[in-house]
Amino acid sequence: MKLSHRITHINEGGSDGWEVFDRAKRMIADGIAVTQLTIGEHDIRTDPTILAAMNASATGGHTGYASVPGIPGLRDAVAARVSARTGVPTRRENVLITPGGQAGLFMAHNAVCNPGDVALFVDPYYATYPGTIRAAGAVARPLRTHARDAFLPQAEELAQLAKGAVSLLINSPNNPTGVVYDRETLEGIAGVCREQDLWLVSDEVYDTQVWKGEHISPRALPGMAERTLVIGSMSKSHAMTGSRCGWIVGPEEAIAALADLAVTTTYGVAGFVQDAALFALNAGEDFEEQIAAPFRRRHLLAQKVLGNQQVVGLLPSDGAMYLMLDIRSTGMSGEAFAYALLEEERIAVMPGESFGSAAAGHIRVAMTIADAEFEQALKRLCDFAATIPGRESKRA
Ligand code: PMP
Repeated sequence: MKLSHRITHINEGGSDGWEVFDRAKRMIADGIAVTQLTIGEHDIRTDPTILAAMNASATGGHTGYASVPGIPGLRDAVAARVSARTGVPTRRENVLITPGGQAGLFMAHNAVCNPGDVALFVDPYYATYPGTIRAAGAVARPLRTHARDAFLPQAEELAQLAKGAVSLLINSPNNPTGVVYDRETLEGIAGVCREQDLWLVSDEVYDTQVWKGEHISPRALPGMAERTLVIGSMSKSHAMTGSRCGWIVGPEEAIAALADLAVTTTYGVAGFVQDAALFALNAGEDFEEQIAAPFRRRHLLAQKVLGNQQVVGLLPSDGAMYLMLDIRSTGMSGEAFAYALLEEERIAVMPGESFGSAAAGHIRVAMTIADAEFEQALKRLCDFAATIPGRESKRA
């Protein structure tokens, strides 16, 4: 029996640093109290009003096969939201409803890559990216970014790497760095996409989580609507991670072809989940702000705590539910630091190395625990970091 190269190589050449995550999970399973700053998921559950809408829909009979591109009402609501937020006229025909942003990422790469085509992604990256590209049969090529540029892609470097590639995947606000791409960066990226005829896959699942500046969708830049596939999701904006409901927004022709792909793969998204998503979108921006508020508060807390010391550096992590911390002054790798922090302080964070080699010497902190506990954990993390250079010199 032989499995395909495609599925057996999805995780080929994966990142380092996941041992720390696995060790934290084992400790928790063994009953050890660990402060968990690893997981990118809200510390609240889906709002009861959304669940009530889901229940009403299901008990009301919306349990059969739902329309595959998505129910018209939800496609219209997503189109209206995108039009309002980006200024790009967007219609139902530009929207495909998918079972979460992850399925959207996979489908989008299937839509733009032929087998063996080169698809670019930005390092550091959300952990599934290279595997998603490989699962779509393409070759995943990382665009390495640098801590000195806040891990923002540089147009000249992109232009060099893009030769022969068909697509670029970006993510702003970014997981793992929390950095929000500014207009200049996005214009630089868009320029290369236009010049080198690249598709842009823009993962905007954190678009409601911006603490400073604004979220700019590159689809709104000149000449980009026809070459951009935007990935959106209810997961982060509405705390609906388990419901698996997201979308792809793009040119009508691409969306029609993607609907054929949906028929042969997911066969759509549960009707009662789509009805719940429509209810949640209709709750408006205030509701979205309510879901984002805990992370906004914790981002402020983090700035206060980190502003009181010099050892741990904070990247301009002005969006998403993460902070990227620079711990290079301790002389440790992100992995060694995370391991030691777990063993000695019982605080679990993700080593930067888990998200690609570009983030070596950094750690990612998820702001996903209660404010007071979060503030305390950050203080302990900084105090811990401050002891490390001393240890080195004692050893020397
Ligand atoms: N993109 C990014 C950057 C993410 O962090 C996540 C989830 N952690 C996803 C996409 C996928 O989200 P979902 O499938 O739940 O919409």
